[in-house]
Amino acid sequence: MNIILLGPPGAGKGTQAAYIVKKINVPQISTGNILREAVANKTEYGLKAQEYMNRGDLVTDEIVIGIIRDRIQESDCQNGYILDGFPRNKEQSIALDSMLQEFGHSIDRVFDFRVSEENLLKRLLGRLNCSNTSCGAGYHEEFKKPKVKGKCDACGSDLFRRADDNKETILNRNKVYEETAGPIRDHYSEILIAIDSDKEISEINATLDKHL
Ligand code: AMP
Repeated sequence: MNIILLGPPGAGKGTQAAYIVKKINVPQISTGNILREAVANKTEYGLKAQEYMNRGDLVTDEIVIGIIRDRIQESDCQNGYILDGFPRNKEQSIALDSMLQEFGHSIDRVFDFRVSEENLLKRLLGRLNCSNTSCGAGYHEEFKKPKVKGKCDACGSDLFRRADDNKETILNRNKVYEETAGPIRDHYSEILIAIDSDKEISEINATLDKHL
């Protein structure tokens, strides 16, 4: 099953992606995570992407389309994948269509996570992430505290705060998202499933269950 997760940063896509991964055993492909790793490793495209990411702007289509093109051909994607953070504009959805056609894949579900700006700010300003990229677990200083302060429950690595989780960048990321979300929703209107992401995590899990 191939799934797309749409929604502004802070809508809970990463949390729900982890839930879906466990449930149907297909990998999560987060362009944001892949880009952050490239920035940390100072690769050529990481260096190009960093400036855009710090501002909360989209990095160039060429970079992210290349990332997705390579990733969905890997062997663990044979039974499906969850695209988290891609496509982010109309051009990326069109590029994805032609890749899918080329590889004989198709998209089965598009979950559109919707959240109020108030909740989005609360979630992102308190968000903590595991620094071990192969773990990637997410926490929150108030809503999902780790057992030991600053350490990941799952793997014990240090937790960190993302450089772009500050109020100014969050608001810009949300603005950028809203500007590009309409055309993407239209593109997938026939298979789009709206998810009320202001609800509790467990309620959202239950809604997803009905559609998986
Ligand atoms: P995220 O982790 O999804 O919030 O993404 C963090 C940042 O990575 C975004 O603010 C963008 O700068 C960049 N990014 C992630 N995915 C994409 C994409 N599909 N297209 C362009 N930029 C992206």
